[in-house]
Order: sequence, then structure tokens, then C-alpha cells
Amino acid sequence: MSGTDDVTGGGEDGRGQESGPRWHVEVDRGVCIGSGLCAATAPGGFVLDAARQSHPVRPECAASDEVLAAAEGCPVEAITVTDAGTGEAVFPPEE
Ligand code: SF4
Repeated sequence: MSGTDDVTGGGEDGRGQESGPRWHVEVDRGVCIGSGLCAATAPGGFVLDAARQSHPVRPECAASDEVLAAAEGCPVEAITVTDAGTGEAVFPPEE
């Protein structure tokens, strides 16, 4: 009987988006008008429910140009993005 030592360390696992800054994403559903623009801009970041209210796919995600573009493009500024680590405002930016 020989030992099974074929398990390698596996440095790369293909999930490369887990490093770097992380963002906390919120949608104010009292403000969202269900335009769908955010889901169109960042399909991996936002999804609309049956009532056409937007939700972040994940409340915390890796920093993403798409998510930022979606927040900037929301016609009613319903999307708030903060740095999950520092709590600093990403969008809308602090004045
Ligand atoms: S872009 Fe703004 S208003 Fe439109 S669905 Fe997304 S959060 Fe709602």
C-alpha cells in the first residue's frame, strides 16, 4: 500500500478577483425606479427582481469598474458604494 501524495499545492485557482480593495454595495430601493441600467452596465453586479427593483448580486464585491460605472450611471443615484475595508465613500464621492 502506497501513500497517495498526488495532491499539489495549486497556486493558481482561477479565482483571481479575490484580491485588492473590496466594496460594499447598496441599492436604495425607495429611490430605485427600476430602469435596469445598472444591471445592463454591470450584469455581474446587479440584478432586478420581479418588482423591477435592483439588488446587488453580492453586497460585498471586489472593486470593479463596471460596478462604479453602474453607480455613476444610475439616473436617480440609488446606488451607494463604500470601501469595505475603510468605510470611505467610493460613490457618491464625499465632498
Ligand atoms: S440604474 Fe438605478 S434606478 Fe435603474 S435599476 Fe439600477 S439602481 Fe434602479
